[in-house]
Amino acid sequence: MRALLQRAVNRLHAIEDHLTVRTQIAAAVAAMSIVLVGTLAAGAALISYRNTSTLIENNLAGTAAMVSGRLDRFMATRRQEMMLFAGLQPMEQLWQGDPAALRSSLEALQHSFDFAWIGFADVDGNVVASTGGLLQGKSVAARPWFKQGLERVAVGDVHEALLLASLLTQRANNEPYRFVDIAVPVRDASGKLLGVLGGHLDWNWATSLIKDAEARDGNADATLSIISKGGMVLVGPQKETIRYAGDELADILKAGDGTFRETRDGQQMLTAFHVGNGFRDYQGLNWIVTASQPASVALKAAIASAKTILAIGAATALIALSLAVLVSRRIAAPIVAITREADRIGRAHGPTMLARQSGSAEVVQLSRALRSLLRRIGLAEERTKEAELRATENAMQLQEDMLKLRQLADTDFMTGLMNRRSFLTVADDAVAYCRRYKRNMATLMIDIDHFKKINDTHGHAAGDDAIKRVAEIVSQSIRTTDKAARFGGEEFVVLLREIDQETAVLLADRIRTAIESATVRHGNVIIPLTVSVGLALFDESDRDVQDVIERADQGLYVAKKTGRNRTFLMPAEDERAARAA
Ligand code: GH3
Ligand code: MG
Ligand code: MG
Repeated sequence: MRALLQRAVNRLHAIEDHLTVRTQIAAAVAAMSIVLVGTLAAGAALISYRNTSTLIENNLAGTAAMVSGRLDRFMATRRQEMMLFAGLQPMEQLWQGDPAALRSSLEALQHSFDFAWIGFADVDGNVVASTGGLLQGKSVAARPWFKQGLERVAVGDVHEALLLASLLTQRANNEPYRFVDIAVPVRDASGKLLGVLGGHLDWNWATSLIKDAEARDGNADATLSIISKGGMVLVGPQKETIRYAGDELADILKAGDGTFRETRDGQQMLTAFHVGNGFRDYQGLNWIVTASQPASVALKAAIASAKTILAIGAATALIALSLAVLVSRRIAAPIVAITREADRIGRAHGPTMLARQSGSAEVVQLSRALRSLLRRIGLAEERTKEAELRATENAMQLQEDMLKLRQLADTDFMTGLMNRRSFLTVADDAVAYCRRYKRNMATLMIDIDHFKKINDTHGHAAGDDAIKRVAEIVSQSIRTTDKAARFGGEEFVVLLREIDQETAVLLADRIRTAIESATVRHGNVIIPLTVSVGLALFDESDRDVQDVIERADQGLYVAKKTGRNRTFLMPAEDERAARAA
């Protein structure tokens, strides 16, 4: 169950991301409206149902009480009339006098008071006189009304006419005659019982009373019934049936009046009842008057008010929805604008800054924050570029410095020629190349003659100038592929590539003569210079470049020994021979 709920929530979140603010607000408002209007309508229906039910119940209770009261008053009046009639002074002679006169008096009473039959029976139960002469001369001694009437004023409950039915004219609808009896004892002035005055009230009046009440009530749905205290329906839709019995009946009689709900013919009914309890000294017969109405009438009213509220609610919800759509469109507009603009930032020819947006405090803040972010990003970008440039510059400078350093490391400081170390590296490669490809190369060893004397005569600085001048001439005399180095002091070594013996000798001598003919000026003094040159050609017997240089040095030695300012080629054979020896 929890997992299911979680999945539903996740699904909702996933959907949420695809919905615009406008749709979400509209959906929220719609949901809110449905819940609100639904609740209101349901509540209104319930309240309306209750109120209408109460109203109907009260109305029904009023009708029941009114009808019950009228019944009792009618009966009380009839009873009072009978008592009045029985006690009338002028009637005293008639009770024991001419039956015909009594009969006409009784008939007068009948016509004025709606009795079906009125008769006077003597103490033995023989009818002395009666309306229409019906039952006259007959005995009613066995009739309950007569027996009760001998003792007191009595009102008998509804019953079918037993003796009279056959004598009275048939009713139009063939309904049996039903009577309510009123019996009054008749006495003379001394109080002696003369007989019983009995009257039968046709129950029909009760039916017309009900019809009258129903019509005047104005509510065609209300049905009225009169039920005897025994539970039998006297007037009503199901006449002669027992409607209430047992505890139910006892409760009704005990309560006297009230309302309840019941199901009749499968229909829910609201019923009010009122139990008749007489009028003044009339005790009453405890007839139960019920007034019923289908509960659906109350429900109809409730549904009608719910419908009205639903209609008003739907209209309100529609207005709220339109307003929500409008408002959310206004809310979303700046966000949409920011999104569109932000999407263009950083693209070719795109802007680098967002326009200021407004519409709500949040949007203003968002716009401000994004603008600030872009400013910071821009600054960081510029700083990075600058740092990159500086790094490149540094790297270039470093490379340059390295190059210079390397050059410095490889170069003799005073003359700008190669130094011993860098020369030997190049010369080693040259030897390896010559051996591999059977090529020629030569080395010259050049030494200034009597240099010590220059130093001594003109000073150390003059000596330095002489060294520089010689270096200058040497490097001008050789090809670019040849290399010259200062080996220390006033001694130079030259590597000549791709050269035969003849050319090497020529070149060595050209260097020597060039120096001889050059002048070295130190201040005002012109210093003459000569050099001795030892020459050696690479021989395949040479182990390395040192061997060749060594041989050139031997050549130099010979050149010095044999008079200086000359070139001497030291042949390899001699050395080979010497090494072999
Ligand atoms: P030789 O003709 O036999 O070569 O005689 P020399 O006087 O040239 O003898 P040597 O070559 O042995 O003398 C080298 C002198 O050069 C020794 C030293 O005082 C001097 N010398 C060495 N290096 C420098 C330098 O850098 N500058 C100067 N001015 N003198 C140097
Ligand atoms: Mg020397
Ligand atoms: Mg020397």
